[in-house]
Formats: sequence, structure tokens, C-alpha cells
Amino acid sequence: CGIVGYVGKGNVQEVLLHGLEKLEYRGYDSAGIFVVDAENQGHVFKEKGRIADLRAIVDRQVEAHTGIGHTRWATHGVPSAENAHPHQSADGRFTLVHNGVIENFKEIKDEYLQDVNFVSQTDTEIVVQLIGKIAAEENLNGKEALRRALSIVRGSYAFALVDAQAPDVFYAAKNKSPMLIGLGDDFNVVASDAMATVQITNQYVEIHDGEMITLTADGVTIEKMDGKTVTRNPYTAQIDA
Ligand code: GLU
Repeated sequence: CGIVGYVGKGNVQEVLLHGLEKLEYRGYDSAGIFVVDAENQGHVFKEKGRIADLRAIVDRQVEAHTGIGHTRWATHGVPSAENAHPHQSADGRFTLVHNGVIENFKEIKDEYLQDVNFVSQTDTEIVVQLIGKIAAEENLNGKEALRRALSIVRGSYAFALVDAQAPDVFYAAKNKSPMLIGLGDDFNVVASDAMATVQITNQYVEIHDGEMITLTADGVTIEKMDGKTVTRNPYTAQIDA
């Protein structure tokens, strides 16, 4: 299982697909990408099977500036196109990919999401529905809705999240699942492993457990759950592309 997220100039779709191919060694049963085009329309492509099968259903080249991609190793729900990530909130506003396991997904569903119709059997969909619900009910921006959701969610996760209301940004968060930041001149990325993006950058920044990341084409902010920002220097990855 693995994640790639990208914001900025470049061939976003190809960066995501190539990155997912590089993460194949981690094991997976399905894969998907979400890209936001020049008109800020979102497009989801997801499929059971290999990255080659995903490539086969990516039937058009989207001029994208933001995107997130995922290879899934099913823990909750069979391997299928419906259960493949990305998952979206019922209002279509939020799109999420996740590696890991949400331990209290049942409690969250019972307590907050009684009236939501789910399209998948995954623990992940509960998180994106929770983010959507919190944002709508408390009139929050994507980052604050994510922060609130993370205070409720227990378990292991690497998340990448896109808010349709802020399509030039994506958010990431990590707890006990691997993820790091890659820095570019006119783009920034996250990935489960630098292997996924080493062809476009060798500058990486660690993410520690309990941190939330905001990425745009020209900047990256790392903060703790309480909102305090963290400064951390990049290192040069010694991997051949
Ligand atoms: N628990 C999630 C699922 O079953 C994510 C699995 C993964 O890490 O790929 O969909």
C-alpha cells in the first residue's frame, strides 16, 4: 500500500501513476487517483488489480494541478473498484486517500454518521464522511475540519486530502504509517517512500507522527495538532531514479 500526492506545475497524472508503480513493491490489490483540472473539476479513476489496470481506465489526459494517488492493501472491505481509494464525502467536497487502519470507525459511524449513505465498506470512507460532516455543520475550512476529525480518529494513518473549495492546496497527516514530503521548485509532493518521486526531486522532509501538512505549489507548512508550526530542514535522498 502507498500514497503519492502532488500540487504544482507538471504532468500530475503521470507523476501519480509513475509513483504508484514505484510503490508496487509494498503490495496492493487495487489503486486509484484523483486529479483536479484547470477548471477546478475533480476526476476520480480507480480500479481493482494492477497499476496497469488503472492506467487502462485513465481514458483522458487531464491538465491537472493537484492530485492524490493510492495503492490499497484491503483491511476493511474486499478488494473492488468501490472500495478502492480515493473516497469522497457525500457532498463531493472532500476526497481522501488513506494507508493504515482506523480502530474506532464503528464508533464514529454510530456517533456521527447515522444519516450518511456509504458507498464502500472501508474504514477510510468513515473518515472522509466525518470530515465532510464536520466542515458542513461547523462551517469550517478543509484544514480545520481535518484537524477536528483527527482529534476523533484513532488508529494508524497516512492521509492525503483535497478540499474542492481550495483546489490549489492539499493536506496530509500521519500517525504510525510512513509518509514524507518532497520539495520541488514549482511543485511539492508527499509519498510513502522517496522511491515514488525521486525522478522529480531528491529533497525530502520528514513528517513525524501527529503532524498535519499543508502543501501548495510554492510552500509547505508543517504543524502539530495544536496549530503550532514546526520548522524542519530537508535532506538529500541518496537514491537513483
Ligand atoms: N484500511 C484501509 C482500507 O482497507 C486502507 C488500507 C491500506 O492501507 O491500503 O481501505
